[in-house]
Amino acid sequence: MEIIEASNLWKKFGRHAALRGLSFTVAEGNAFALIGANGAGKTTAIKILMNIIEPTRGTARVLGVDSPRVSPQELAQIGYVSESQDPPEGLTVAEYIAYLRPFYEKWDRDYEGQLLKTFRLPLKRKISALSHGMRMKLLLLCALVFRPKLLVLDEPFSGLDPLVRDEVLEELARQAGEMTVLLSSHELSEIEGLATHVGFLESGQMRFAESMGELMSRFRKVRVTLEGATVPAAVPDDWLQMTASGNVLEFVATRYQEQELGARIGAVCGVVRRVDTEPMGLRSIFTTMARSAIEQGGEE
Ligand code: ATP
Repeated sequence: MEIIEASNLWKKFGRHAALRGLSFTVAEGNAFALIGANGAGKTTAIKILMNIIEPTRGTARVLGVDSPRVSPQELAQIGYVSESQDPPEGLTVAEYIAYLRPFYEKWDRDYEGQLLKTFRLPLKRKISALSHGMRMKLLLLCALVFRPKLLVLDEPFSGLDPLVRDEVLEELARQAGEMTVLLSSHELSEIEGLATHVGFLESGQMRFAESMGELMSRFRKVRVTLEGATVPAAVPDDWLQMTASGNVLEFVATRYQEQELGARIGAVCGVVRRVDTEPMGLRSIFTTMARSAIEQGGEE
């Protein structure tokens, strides 16, 4: 079952189109990470899904309901955390938790106690006096504690120190299998351990969306040592960031297949002495894609 279905979403702010036909789905139980450069449209997409803003065109369905119709009934099954959330500054941590509790049928008091301990939140402190990290942990507690069907996290790790980030990540990793997760983040190394799927958003469009496994297996750093120092005149468009130094060529293969690579390199480069390949982490995949988007004029 699809928990999120975004189809041809457009969002215009004045003359600027923040989303340009964005489509993607998140199936039940998956943890889908939206990644993309600053301004790519991640927050805009999430706000549409949460019915905070309406799309200019297109449809978004959350838990089977069109986003403009997302009602308190659906919201009671969705945990949502974003930096722009504004819990009431005058309440203490304990007062805020007590205030929220009655809104959620499935609020789990035992889990609440456990999360308070894990996140070391000061119950008596006013929200206005919480540090950024404490505030994010409080919001996360309030989003996790009623065991939502869908957890939506917009940049949950930004501005957190490494210790707090680890605490948050460990808790999310513990719970991830129990619910569907949509998160946007720049912290790519963190996503790597959490996300089952990743979508790369570029200028308001989904450049690719696939499982982590597929993504990791199709990207490779390739180093080719040629017999002579000949730079190929034209390279396939799925080979990015080609550099040549003497008789060594380096590039990123974005549709890597072990059985085919040798023959393809031979066809493009001529006589080859050796080929070395190296798997890539999510961070280098991201920077490769982002750089190629800039080179192709994809950024505004
Ligand atoms: P970041 O990683 O920097 O948070 P993002 O991918 O979340 O970026 P959005 O916040 O969705 O990007 O913004 C997408 C584009 O829409 C940007 O160019 C932004 O300036 C523009 N935008 C977003 N909200 C508004 C608004 N309320 N009014 C005008 N433009 C907006």
